[in-house]
Amino acid sequence: MAGVLVFGDVAGGEPTAASLEVAAAGAALAEALGEPLSGALVGADLAEASQQFRGGFACLYLVEGSHYRPYTAQAYLTAAQAVIQACSPSVVLFTHTLETRDWVPQLAARLNSGLVMDCTALASEGGALVVTKPVYGGAVLGEFVVRGAPRMATLRTRAFTPRPAGFSREEVTRLEVAASQPERLVLLEETAAAAAGTRLQDAKIIVAGGRGIRGPDNWHFIEEASAALGAAVGCSRPMVDAGWVPSSHQIGLSGTSVAPDLYLAVGISGAVQHLAGITAARVVVAINSDSGADIFTRANYGVVGDYREVLPAFIARIKQLRA
Ligand SMILES: Cc1cc2nc3c(=O)[nH]c(=O)nc-3n(C[C@H](O)[C@H](O)[C@H](O)COP(=O)(O)OP(=O)(O)OC[C@H]3O[C@@H](n4cnc5c(N)ncnc54)[C@H](O)[C@@H]3O)c2cc1C
Repeated sequence: MAGVLVFGDVAGGEPTAASLEVAAAGAALAEALGEPLSGALVGADLAEASQQFRGGFACLYLVEGSHYRPYTAQAYLTAAQAVIQACSPSVVLFTHTLETRDWVPQLAARLNSGLVMDCTALASEGGALVVTKPVYGGAVLGEFVVRGAPRMATLRTRAFTPRPAGFSREEVTRLEVAASQPERLVLLEETAAAAAGTRLQDAKIIVAGGRGIRGPDNWHFIEEASAALGAAVGCSRPMVDAGWVPSSHQIGLSGTSVAPDLYLAVGISGAVQHLAGITAARVVVAINSDSGADIFTRANYGVVGDYREVLPAFIARIKQLRA
């Protein structure tokens, strides 16, 4: 077994930004190991994505078929198994998405491979694959040596710099994988209305509100601030539990992990489960009326005060600067 294989994802016919990040991480690792780099895409329509997914691959494997839509774990892990069999890699890397969180552990169990999920760094130490991931709710960064054949890891979105376009792919191999008798049948697929604006995972700026907002009638403060900054809207878990904000906006251990350049936390105390979701945020600004709130230990800049006074003044200043 030799070589690094990276699985990309396709959205709207194109490889996702996270796929380009995994390609970059895979390329660096392949170089460190002195092994070739291959790519793989699985999906219903790969025409455009296969053109764009150029990560400097010795070979790009494509597994295409109408049975990949709607998504089922069974179809994806059968396809991935076929690619791994064809390519015999020593390391396989994936994006860390809702779907890979579902099917990649099943693949690892099927292959009896070592898998570490949600990694934020990769290194080769004397041929060993050493990965880093936040543990204990993000309070500690743990290092793991991945064993098995192949060794596998999913990589956290925005933890790696994406590979710029324009790299080559030497060869394209199409694998035919027949649809197997489904273990589960998708009877109905409903796509939740996409949250307005940028997806949290991809957002460069996020304005997030917590229980300190004190009720859904005040949520407009958060929406106005996000509109002024061109930001995505996030929230802490109590907002979701209370039914004030859809769960797709929740940030943290049991929500989405984000990596914006700027994270504005409003009325959020800074519980470890919330901080676990913002470990990769570059600059954190907190507005909280309690100077002892834990969020200030993570914040680069903090304002102690009532957000109902601070935020309107902040929004007015942003608008003034942008006028
Ligand atoms: C297994 C598990 C998983 C969890 N997963 C998550 C998760 O994914 N995401 C998550 O967020 N939480 C999660 N939690 C919950 C977490 O422990 C906290 O309860 C939660 O993050 C607290 O949310 P909060 O900061 O909005 O509320 P609070 O802790 O109640 O904080 C509200 C803050 O608002 C401030 N405030 C009040 N009024 C004002 C005002 N007028 N102006 C400015 N500030 C004001 C207060 O000083 C306070 O600091 C999880 C918990 C468990 C056990």
